[in-house]
Amino acid sequence: LVDKAAKVLNNLKKGLPYENEIIFAKKKRVFDNSKVESHSAITPTYLLPKSLSSDEDIVYNAIKNRFIMQFMPIAEHEETKIITKVNNDEIKGLFTSKGKVQLVEGWKKVEKIESKDTILPLVSINEVVSIEDHKLTSHVTKPPKHHTEKTLLRVMETCGKGKDKEDEDSEEMMAAILSGYSIGTPATRAETIKKLKDVGYIATQNKNLICTELGIKLVETFPIKELFDLEFTGRLEKTLSDIEKQKFSKRDFLNTIFEFTTTGVEKIKKEQEVIINEVTREKKQIEVLGKCPVCGSGVIEGQKGFGCSNWKNGCKFVIWKNDKFLALMKKKPTKTMVKTLLKNGVVTVKGLTSKKGNKFDAKMKYEKNADNEYFNWKMEFTK
Ligand SMILES: [Zn+2]
Repeated sequence: LVDKAAKVLNNLKKGLPYENEIIFAKKKRVFDNSKVESHSAITPTYLLPKSLSSDEDIVYNAIKNRFIMQFMPIAEHEETKIITKVNNDEIKGLFTSKGKVQLVEGWKKVEKIESKDTILPLVSINEVVSIEDHKLTSHVTKPPKHHTEKTLLRVMETCGKGKDKEDEDSEEMMAAILSGYSIGTPATRAETIKKLKDVGYIATQNKNLICTELGIKLVETFPIKELFDLEFTGRLEKTLSDIEKQKFSKRDFLNTIFEFTTTGVEKIKKEQEVIINEVTREKKQIEVLGKCPVCGSGVIEGQKGFGCSNWKNGCKFVIWKNDKFLALMKKKPTKTMVKTLLKNGVVTVKGLTSKKGNKFDAKMKYEKNADNEYFNWKMEFTK
């Protein structure tokens, strides 16, 4: 793409006020094959567009300007601290100003890049300056703002790097993005936030994302602290991207994960149980269908079967919804069937289908096997 880029640059620079500062060069900062993944950078075309809508124009110019900036001189600045003493008895003390002094504007000429840094004037030591204005102000600090979905996605993208600087293009942040140091991928990040909402760890309030009581309790009590550590998660993602680039071995990674998971699970097992969310029974009245023939507790409907509510203490009585014996006769146990069976020990099942396809009815029992704790359907034909 080197030749193409050179030609495009030639077409674009014509007539620009800083045309003579735009110099094409095959620099590694711009052309680096080792960093190309799914596609190279987006560049403008040879042809200058003639009729763009205002939105298209914004996009086009953003791409064009970035493209041009790469071939302009670097911007230079000095990190500066100016200490000012005021020759006035009413204004006591020394005043410190920290900021940057711009030495070379360089590529920043292309767009009037508004730096969020304080730009200080260029002064020399002991220079006498005049005060144009002064005022005394008082300030109150505010707690940090809540995340919105947008800011959270951004932080996930860089694993929290550069978030304090509020500088969208800080080197540290760009380096993080390029090296794969992130939480999730563009395809999965939004889904992760949605999951947190669905589970109830976070909630939306206007546009803000608020951590719920449940979420707070989880963070406070969950024993594997590494899983809340941005650095840790970021390193895992980075390693995945390193494996992709063949800079790290898959086996080493799997070993690390295996060890981490094993120690984590062991730790959780040893921890004291903490209830962070108690689901109240009243929400959903569970219907008891009858008495468990094994232990006498209530039998209730579950997702896969009708089972003994005493399962926590080891009772294994269950009537599977996909019971194979019934399935052979194209039948699934129903709630009514289970109720009758538990009450009478036998139930008349209607509309069974024979191997030949004939419909028939049968009396059925659900009996425990003599040699194990499982139950099986037994059938006796009605005469
Ligand atoms: Zn039971």
